[in-house]
Amino acid sequence: MNDQPVTPVEPSFRDSVDIMFNRAVALMDLSPGLEEKIRVCNATYTVRFGVRLRGRIVTFTGYRSVHSEHMEPVKGGIRYAPNVHQDEVEALAALMTYKCALVEVPYGGSKGGLRIDPREWEEHELELITRRFAYELAKRDLINPAQNVPAPDMGTGEREMAWIADQYRRMNTTDINASACVTGKPLNSGGIAGRVEATGRGVQFALREFFRHPEDVAKANLSGSLEGKRVIVQGLGNVGYHAAKFLSEEDGCRITGVIERDGALLSGDGIDIEALKQWIGKHGTIKGFPSARMVEDGASVLEAECDILIPAALEGVIHLGNAERIKAPLIIEAANGPITAGGDEVLRGKGTVIIPDMYANAGGVTVSYFEWVKNLSHIRFGRMQRRAEETEHHLIVEELERLSADKGLGWTLSPDFKSRYLKGADELALVRSGLDDTMRTAYQAMREVWWSRDDVHDLRTAAYLVAIGRVAASYRAKGL
Ligand code: GLU
Repeated sequence: MNDQPVTPVEPSFRDSVDIMFNRAVALMDLSPGLEEKIRVCNATYTVRFGVRLRGRIVTFTGYRSVHSEHMEPVKGGIRYAPNVHQDEVEALAALMTYKCALVEVPYGGSKGGLRIDPREWEEHELELITRRFAYELAKRDLINPAQNVPAPDMGTGEREMAWIADQYRRMNTTDINASACVTGKPLNSGGIAGRVEATGRGVQFALREFFRHPEDVAKANLSGSLEGKRVIVQGLGNVGYHAAKFLSEEDGCRITGVIERDGALLSGDGIDIEALKQWIGKHGTIKGFPSARMVEDGASVLEAECDILIPAALEGVIHLGNAERIKAPLIIEAANGPITAGGDEVLRGKGTVIIPDMYANAGGVTVSYFEWVKNLSHIRFGRMQRRAEETEHHLIVEELERLSADKGLGWTLSPDFKSRYLKGADELALVRSGLDDTMRTAYQAMREVWWSRDDVHDLRTAAYLVAIGRVAASYRAKGL
């Protein structure tokens, strides 16, 4: 008999996604064939291309994976990272399928990656590399407004999306929908207001919705509202920065910890996120930031006492090795896949509530959808609605002022309120309210499953059940 203790093995990111998928599917009544069709990645294209840089030819490796085409176009970001690999891109593409289904944006899932450390290259070099990568993908319809629409992800942003859009346009000069070939573009190149902040904003809206349900909050052994909650955020990139900024500036959260690549900062009074961002911009590091305690071993701060932990950087940062020591009762996954399947099991066992990635970070793709629709409709988003909305808002303002005068109440509306209210139908306001609505509706779909089924004990399984159910319904409706 072998009584050796079994050392649990940490599954890869790809395996983690499949394990979580399988756990949900075990609770569903899907035919085995359909289950497999949904789980597997349809195709992954690998390209190696050379670019002449600094007097020599440098070869780059890139990927674009298409997970599910139950709806087209397929959608998902392009990541620039030195160690990105096929498995990772496939796991991320699968998550895109489920994410889009959960928030009901009509896309299949895809993801791309380029093995590169963007910090090693200058801007004009990155432009050459990006254009060449875009060319390789576009000529195989892996960038195309009707078939595959990339977006920013880790290591890429508006700048790269503008290059990609321009490259596609040059290759397809008669395509009137060319600008819809990619989302996350700058405002002056067909982008939409509020896309940059969208994922962080979505995290804020997700938490607001969670805290609207006291029974859900109680499951995390918390109570009350977001006001005064202690938050630790890992990663002050686009997502972590916006989430932390909005939660502290608008919801009264205290950012008691920030973890970055060069260490972490702790402060019981709360860290001023805007000031820290400026500090990083100026000094290139969090080191030396005043009024917070520096901790060299950043990862250890994931285990610090707090109410809400927001991993907003890489995948796999909470795993079998540290999950047991995580003290946060509530974790919201702003990154994709920050908790491994093993880590997830440990945390579930401890009663930690996890708001899962496929829901928590869906703000980005939701606003990408608004941008794509705006591009296809060839109209400034909101222009049609604006007059009607304004008229209505004017009526309300006039009515309030008339009532006050009639009753001799002496109420006046401040000019600031009036101008903000009357501008209520601008693009940013429409995007924000559309995003808020999406995040609320998707949360309610998840929690309905969480509360109504005895065999569902966590939000991630609930999210998978909703998402897989929708993908399955779409395959059933239209055939394979
Ligand atoms: N890269 C983001 C994500 O992981 C955004 C994708 C998109 O906007 O298409 O969800």
